[in-house]
Amino acid sequence: MNKHLEQLIEISNLDKDIDALEPKIELKRSELDKTIRSKESKNLQSLQLEEEKKDLKLQVSRNDQTLKDINAKLENIHKKISEVRSERELKALNVEEEIAKEQCTQANIEIERLDKELDHKTDLQKSLQSDINELDKIIKSLEGKVNEEIQIIKDEQQKIFSQKQKLIVKMDQKLIGFYEKVRKWAKNSSVVPVRKQACGGCFIRINDRVYTEIIQSNDIITCPHCGRILYIEETK
Ligand SMILES: [Zn+2]
Repeated sequence: MNKHLEQLIEISNLDKDIDALEPKIELKRSELDKTIRSKESKNLQSLQLEEEKKDLKLQVSRNDQTLKDINAKLENIHKKISEVRSERELKALNVEEEIAKEQCTQANIEIERLDKELDHKTDLQKSLQSDINELDKIIKSLEGKVNEEIQIIKDEQQKIFSQKQKLIVKMDQKLIGFYEKVRKWAKNSSVVPVRKQACGGCFIRINDRVYTEIIQSNDIITCPHCGRILYIEETK
C-alpha cells in the first residue's frame, strides 16, 4: 500500500482513539452531575414544602382568630342569657349559642387537621434533609474521584495526541491539510475502506474505473460520491 495512505490510516485511527475517550469522560461526569441534580431537586422539594407550610400556618392563624371571635360572641350570648326576660328570647339565644358552639367545634377540627398536615410536611422535610446530607457526602467523595479519573483519561488522550503529532511531522503536510479538511465534516469516517466495491463511508457503489484506480494507483483516491479518502483493506 501507498506509504502516505498507510500513514493517513494510522492518523485516522489515532484520531478515533482520542475521540473514543470522550464518552468515557462524559460518563464519569454524568455520574456526578446526576447526584448534584438529585440533590438540587430535593432542595427544591423542601423549599416547596416550606411554602406549603407557610400557607397552612396562615390558615391556622385564621382559624385561631375565628375561635377568638366565636368565644367573644359566646360570652356576649351568656351575658344576654343572664339578663333574659322572656321564654322566646331565651330560645332564640339558645339557638344562637348552639350555632356558635358548632362553629367552635368546626374551627377546632380544622386546626387539628391543619396541625397534622403541618407535622406531616415537617416529617417529609426531615427525610429530605437526611437524603440531602447523604447526597452531599456522595458528591464530596465523587468530586475528587471523578476529577482524578477524568485526568487519567485526559492524560491518555494526550499520549495518543503526541503520538499523532510525532507522526504528522514526518508526513506530507499537504496531505495532512487535506485530511483535516475532510475530517471537519466526515469526523471519524474520513479514511474508509472499500467493501464490496462500495465506499465504507457513504456506502454508494464505486464504478469499475475508479475501483481499478484505487487498487492500482499510488495516489490518494477519494470517493467520487462523498469525498472521503478510500483504501483497500489488506487481506491477511
Ligand atoms: Zn463515499
